[in-house]
Amino acid sequence: MTNLVLFGPPGAGKGTQADILKEKYQLIHISTGDVFRNNIKNKTELGLNAKSYMDKGQLVPDEVTIKMLNAEVDKNEGAKGFIFDGFPRTAAQADALAELLKLKNTEVTAMIALEVDDEILVDRLLERGKTSGRKDDADESVIRNRIKVYYNETAVLKEYYKKQDKYYGVDGVGSIEEITQRLSAVIDKLQA
Ligand code: ADP
Repeated sequence: MTNLVLFGPPGAGKGTQADILKEKYQLIHISTGDVFRNNIKNKTELGLNAKSYMDKGQLVPDEVTIKMLNAEVDKNEGAKGFIFDGFPRTAAQADALAELLKLKNTEVTAMIALEVDDEILVDRLLERGKTSGRKDDADESVIRNRIKVYYNETAVLKEYYKKQDKYYGVDGVGSIEEITQRLSAVIDKLQA
């Protein structure tokens, strides 16, 4: 299996690239943000629970997120691999992911990080907020809080995967096609 953690701060372009890469490599794309938003739309208990955190730009508690992720993986028995987008975001989530994949006799193949400067991120997210309908993109203070949470809680995962020799950084500034090419170059090498 090829199990990729697509990594990077909010607005780095993970969702855009995951949509392209899942087709190209026939992988299942799991975006925790999308799963939460679907649950909010459908007014499920999980959605109601997650909404208050998301609206403030905070992380949904690990316990809730991990349980949800496990269920999403289990829905896709027989998959060739996964693109995890927005997960893991904490060390506890990374440990849980390792455990889950181990039970399936597989592991994280690589973390591929999209590297983009903060000021570009804020501009991109404000722009996205004009059309996405996402409350957390409409307010600059919420955007800045998400970026802060990323540095405080999520960025440590770079070291986590570096230690395992699984970290690959990719320049996330350029056209969508250029960035797809950079990511594909890494994935092709992993699969070679
Ligand atoms: P972005 O990467 O642009 O911030 P996402 O759609 O990935 O957007 O996530 C939106 C929100 O969903 C996050 O700010 C957070 O509240 C919640 N969320 C998504 N993934 C996780 C996760 N792995 N752990 C905790 N909260 C999460």
